Amino acid sequence: LAKDGGKHGTAVYEPCLHSAALERLQLRADLERALVEGELVLHFQPTITLADDGAVPTVHGFEALVRWQHPERGLVPPVHFVPLAEESGLIVPMGTWVLQEACRAAVTLQLPGRPPIAMSVNVAVAQLTAPGFVQLVADALADSGLAPQQLVLEITETSLLAGADVVAPLLGQLRATGIRIAIDDFGTGYSSLSYLRDLPVDVLKVDKSFVDHVVGDEQGASLAEAIIAMGQSLHLTTVAEGVEGPEQAAWLTAAGATYGQGYLWSKPVPLVEAAALLAPAPGVAVQV
Ligand code: C2E
Ligand code: MG
Ligand code: MG
Ligand code: MG
Repeated sequence: LAKDGGKHGTAVYEPCLHSAALERLQLRADLERALVEGELVLHFQPTITLADDGAVPTVHGFEALVRWQHPERGLVPPVHFVPLAEESGLIVPMGTWVLQEACRAAVTLQLPGRPPIAMSVNVAVAQLTAPGFVQLVADALADSGLAPQQLVLEITETSLLAGADVVAPLLGQLRATGIRIAIDDFGTGYSSLSYLRDLPVDVLKVDKSFVDHVVGDEQGASLAEAIIAMGQSLHLTTVAEGVEGPEQAAWLTAAGATYGQGYLWSKPVPLVEAAALLAPAPGVAVQV
């Protein structure tokens, strides 16, 4: 850092380093306050049933995605604070809030007479392995009245691989209660697939990086096709992430992916807008 000296010496660089570190400290303190003050919000992105008949898109469920409504910075996306929360351990209380809030939202979104809505919640490995997690999930379900069959816990492939020995029995316990487990960002973990034999999972979320290449890229299409086929033969549900174009959706449907999720249908939206996506007809008000 500033090793070549120059006419400004280290004085040019130190203030920057200093302010970067300060900025992180400030953000961490802010994040603790955000939790207490209720500045975190959930947005919901629908997962769509990929039916072969070209019918109107059907919402199968939603993924809850956390945002920080910061008083000065506006709506902060998770990429700017989830890693920080993971480092500082704040991810555990934050994740508890997300879980409880998402379960309540699913119950709110459920319209009478409509098939049960699935609610997906992202879970960091630190949460999963924190003492009492299985009970915490059971309590969130009991308190909200959500059926375990409606809850999907998403764990990234990378974090699964980091602690498969510890994680596998926990996933087994959760699954025994009827909750489903999804592997998030599937295909980005650069690892042996043998873990699929040992880990009790239900859903593969095919990472956007594969979905991006299904149209007009022969190699890319083959790769995505192989992942979807593998999911099918292992009796796993597949969700294609980051679907942005109708050609991609058509291709994924033909390839046999179960669900799609992406800007093509909707960005993650606040609860009221998520409810509107489920409204039986335009103009019908849904109470949330
Ligand atoms: P993820 O779980 O893989 O979520 C999907 C991300 O892709 C979301 O970004 C979503 O907005 C984005 N996305 C969906 N469709 C499209 C599309 O068509 N095009 C593009 N370009 N992007 C699309 P988001 O909300 O910024 O979340 C980023 C990541 O932050 C999530 O990736 C997840 O790993 C993490 N995250 C979000 N909420 C939570 C949470 O409550 N707990 C934990 N532990 N992690 C969370
Ligand atoms: Mg996810
Ligand atoms: Mg993902
Ligand atoms: Mg992702």
